[in-house]
Amino acid sequence: MKYLCIVLALAACSEPDQTQATSTAVVAEATSDSIVPAQYANGKLVRITKSDAEWKRSLSEMSYYVMRQEGTERAFTGKLWSNKARGTYVCNACGLPLFASAAKFDSGTGWPSYYQPVAADYVRENRDNSLGMLRVEVECARCGGHLGHVFDDGPAPTGLRYCINSASLRFVKD
Ligand SMILES: [Zn+2]
Repeated sequence: MKYLCIVLALAACSEPDQTQATSTAVVAEATSDSIVPAQYANGKLVRITKSDAEWKRSLSEMSYYVMRQEGTERAFTGKLWSNKARGTYVCNACGLPLFASAAKFDSGTGWPSYYQPVAADYVRENRDNSLGMLRVEVECARCGGHLGHVFDDGPAPTGLRYCINSASLRFVKD
């Protein structure tokens, strides 16, 4: 009888956990450490729009500053510039897979650098005239989060250098 009571107690305990797990999976929040694949409607990447207040709530202070206010982290301070593990770098705000570790190279700049994105339509480029320089800004095509800039002094095969803030990325190991 005593044994049966323990079994029942354990069963009761496990139930709320299962409910919680199911609801988390349905919501598929971008805060999870997983890849959230692109979805298309009428051949176009489905975008994510949130209010400024919502982004502020869901991002760390540094990521909000970089991704929503187009800030730049100081060189050699981010957590991913020297990462050499195999995996995928996803958008820190929406989980879109942006860069593969195979396309990462050591640029010596102190920011994670890649010669190409996972797919051409996963990033969007905008001309950026700030700081008295003409640069090409790169943002996540799904959520509009600022990532960094792209320059044409990168290595083969593309000759491009996507200079990206660690604060805009999350690393998902293979
Ligand atoms: Zn995004």
